[in-house]
Amino acid sequence: MPPSNQLAAPPEASPVLTAWEIPGLVHGFCGRIGGVSTGAFATFNLAEWVGDEADAVAENWRRWNARYPHLRVARLAQVHGKTVHPIDLAHDSKRREGDGMVTASAGIALGIFTADCVPILMVDAERRVAGALHAGWRGALAGIAGEGVRAMTGLGARTAAIRAALGPSIGSCCFEVDAALAADFATRVPGASTHTRAGKPGKAYLDLRAIIRDQLAREGLEFASIASLGPCTRCANDAYFSRRGNGGATSGLQMSFIGFAR
Ligand SMILES: [Zn+2]
Repeated sequence: MPPSNQLAAPPEASPVLTAWEIPGLVHGFCGRIGGVSTGAFATFNLAEWVGDEADAVAENWRRWNARYPHLRVARLAQVHGKTVHPIDLAHDSKRREGDGMVTASAGIALGIFTADCVPILMVDAERRVAGALHAGWRGALAGIAGEGVRAMTGLGARTAAIRAALGPSIGSCCFEVDAALAADFATRVPGASTHTRAGKPGKAYLDLRAIIRDQLAREGLEFASIASLGPCTRCANDAYFSRRGNGGATSGLQMSFIGFAR
């Protein structure tokens, strides 16, 4: 007979990638493992606006809250733009339109939702300013990285002290785009052409994380302070939601979060 504690074993915890050990800082990149949602939302979907069952999302949130107590999560209606909102304790649960948040308030976590786009977490550990951004190709072209850095300095962060982490997102192995879009990047984003390779006729592959890393460095971050964590979401579709891995159809979304505990 198996030991009885195996029967009572807790569900497989969601693995969370972290970039730093900073006292008081709570952050991480969640994947899709460790929840109860099913189908395209299996299993750890924390987005209740994508068509998942409300009870399943609520149970997933219960698990997240049990692991990260005393943190309210601020979230956005993400639109692939470059608007970055300062968030403080007065923030209500309404999801405002935008693709980035920054905060200097303890007790709030900034939550960004993705399924191939690049989640970016940032922190000035000494000034205790945190930021979270959603950067797909539209956001990268629009300049969300620079907007995020400036919003952080607006709250007292110093650019050269900001550390950034780019999380699991579609890799250059899988991010095939029209050659015209790659040409647009090459024209509008300095250095982007060095992170592009030719694909089939009329197509090209972009290394979105490398392009964004360059954008952050150009804003004044130390190159060595910009980390890249986790695999390509499409290649690792068993561990991460991937829109392209789901044939372009709506899937669950993984949450990346950062904030200071009270
Ligand atoms: Zn891939």
